[in-house]
Amino acid sequence: TTRDRKYKRILLKLSGEQLMGDEGFGIDPKVLDKMALEIGQLVGIGVQVGLVIGGGNLFRGAALSKAGLDRVTGDHMGMLATVMNALAMRDALERSNISSSVMSAIPMSGVVEHYDRRRAIRLLEDGEVVIFSAGTGNPFFTTDSAACLRGIEVDAELVLKATKVDGVYTADPVKDPTATRYERLSYDTVLADKLGVMDLTAICLCQEHDMPVRVFQMDKPGALLNIVVGGNEGTLIEA
Ligand code: UDP
Repeated sequence: TTRDRKYKRILLKLSGEQLMGDEGFGIDPKVLDKMALEIGQLVGIGVQVGLVIGGGNLFRGAALSKAGLDRVTGDHMGMLATVMNALAMRDALERSNISSSVMSAIPMSGVVEHYDRRRAIRLLEDGEVVIFSAGTGNPFFTTDSAACLRGIEVDAELVLKATKVDGVYTADPVKDPTATRYERLSYDTVLADKLGVMDLTAICLCQEHDMPVRVFQMDKPGALLNIVVGGNEGTLIEA
């Protein structure tokens, strides 16, 4: 019910790798279906959801460049990869009867619509999930930055960054059993300690515009829903 929700509009960032499931590459439709259901729960309680999906399950510019490709060309490939992921996610959402639209920062007439901030806000207000693809449209950026940028642009109240671990830890919890989770971190600490939560460009942008970021574990059942009703999952990064 809408009475329980804490946020009216959020921007959820999923990495491309989260779409692979147990495969080493590509998209696992079963994972998409599961995510679609979780996103549907948010829509069901009246939360407006903007979505940014990475492309790391397919291509990353930096990795392609290491293998010998031109970096900018590699980044273009990475951005196109995010469009493929967005199409797959839209398909999964629509199969679960959740209306959604894909917008691309790079015009791709006939496939998806070009990013338009005002139209995106209208679609969100109509209860559609809006998937912002092709990152920022520029090389040398990441989809973390795209998520923060779009979140700020469409006036989301929170950026939710889905990761493998349930928040930010004092050390790698897999390697160090004494590692503890931060419930809260300031932008300054994340920047000064270069905590690898999100790229620093993204954090700077959020700091500049007072956009809180919550880092949480996507495959923890119920975590996403718990956050939008005000639960204390993962780590909150704010001023
Ligand atoms: N990318 C880019 N500009 C952007 C967003 C993404 O050039 O604004 C490229 C970049 O090469 C990046 C790739 O797209 O490596 C995939 O995005 P990202 O690495 O952020 O995906 P994730 O790690 O979230 O799956």
